[in-house]
Amino acid sequence: MADTFDVTIIGTGPAGYVCAIRAAQLGMKVAVVEKRATHGGTCLNIGCIPSKALLHASELFGEAKHSFAKMGIGVTPSLDLVQMMKFKQEAIDGNTKGIDFLFKKNKITPIRGTAKILGPGKVQVDGKDIVETKAIIIATGSDVAGLKGVEIDEKQIVSSTGALTLEKVPETLVVTRFDPSGLSIRRRREQLRSTLRLQLAFFRPSTWGSYYGILKTLGRFVIPYSVIVAIKGALSRRARVEAI
Ligand SMILES: Cc1cc2nc3c(=O)[nH]c(=O)nc-3n(C[C@H](O)[C@H](O)[C@H](O)COP(=O)(O)OP(=O)(O)OC[C@H]3O[C@@H](n4cnc5c(N)ncnc54)[C@H](O)[C@@H]3O)c2cc1C
Repeated sequence: MADTFDVTIIGTGPAGYVCAIRAAQLGMKVAVVEKRATHGGTCLNIGCIPSKALLHASELFGEAKHSFAKMGIGVTPSLDLVQMMKFKQEAIDGNTKGIDFLFKKNKITPIRGTAKILGPGKVQVDGKDIVETKAIIIATGSDVAGLKGVEIDEKQIVSSTGALTLEKVPETLVVTRFDPSGLSIRRRREQLRSTLRLQLAFFRPSTWGSYYGILKTLGRFVIPYSVIVAIKGALSRRARVEAI
């Protein structure tokens, strides 16, 4: 590639795209390299945005099914999961296209492919093209953390990514690891009436404080009080807590 960029950012999730836009606004010549087909990273493609779209739709479904009657509104909602998934996809597309627009507006050069840093000032894309750049910023985010001995097939055992594309509402569901993405999946399935088993497995003690904060807030309406107490009691040691 002929151009030399002031900065090349690897990854266009919320970290990368905001960084790219700001650097361009400050007058730098900016390139971004992204291996996914669309910009926006985990958050816009398989994280915050799709999960919140499904959460919103399933909460309205739950409201219509369980709360409207007592307000004097008579409706019997039915679930069209295919349409709900289209609704989710529209939310993703709207947001990712917004990033394309902002890159264009700020004269940022998007490069599609997997980046590898060869050395100072050299980023290789898909093992071929070399991008020459004064500075490199790594904004490659994170990936799904597996469980030892458990194969994620995205059918029966799904990651948060697979959970966003299930073809039917599962009758039963175990959510392992209780972080914001697990929480939103749990809440969504609850509204759509899966039988849910929430599993909190072996958190590091240092993470208990923040999880306890989340649990305390949510516990008011989704988790039996006894479980909260059990978790509070386990704050200082590794623990395994299950709740239905
Ligand atoms: C289901 C779910 C729900 C979530 N909900 C929320 C929420 O409600 N609120 C919240 O704050 N956070 C939420 N998160 C977390 C949020 O998505 C992440 O914190 C955020 O996306 C991190 O941004 P990032 O830019 O650091 O990384 P990412 O968004 O992961 O972006 C990194 C990008 O780098 C690309 N990349 C990686 N390696 C290379 C390479 N070698 N070459 C080229 N490109 C590469 C990846 O393809 C990716 O697009 C959620 C996450 C999930 C999974």
